Amino acid sequence: MTQESPVRRFKDFRWENTDLLAYRQEEGVPFKDVTRQLLFEAPDLKGELRYFEVATNGYSSLERHDHRHAVMILRGTGRCLVGTQVFQVGPLDLVDIPPMAWHQFRAGDTEALGFLCLVNVQRDKAQLPSPEQLAELSSHPAVAGFFRAK
Ligand code: MN
Repeated sequence: MTQESPVRRFKDFRWENTDLLAYRQEEGVPFKDVTRQLLFEAPDLKGELRYFEVATNGYSSLERHDHRHAVMILRGTGRCLVGTQVFQVGPLDLVDIPPMAWHQFRAGDTEALGFLCLVNVQRDKAQLPSPEQLAELSSHPAVAGFFRAK
């Protein structure tokens, strides 16, 4: 077995020796143009570090769950929804997504949005909004504007 280097390089927006995975396996989860690379899995630390990339004009799924996320943007600019607030984000911004806060990431129209996401190894499944919850979220003007973006 070959010894893996402790240093893994990020070259041309791909992590070396890392599979490029589909964002989600589950059927019917709405998202657009997102890839996932699992960088680090450490049950002893109870943590998992993933890298996601949302292509130009793409977006991650709108979801919430009990587990927390720490998200650090590495490339591109875009916007994120956390709860009912919308933020412009760019490289090295750290986004703390608290338990049960609705969240979604959207890339801008010029560049992909790439970010690290730290999660607990053991975590609950994401919940998607019901039509009623979506309507409630959309009643906030900033959120409605965020959803309208193509
Ligand atoms: Mn999430």
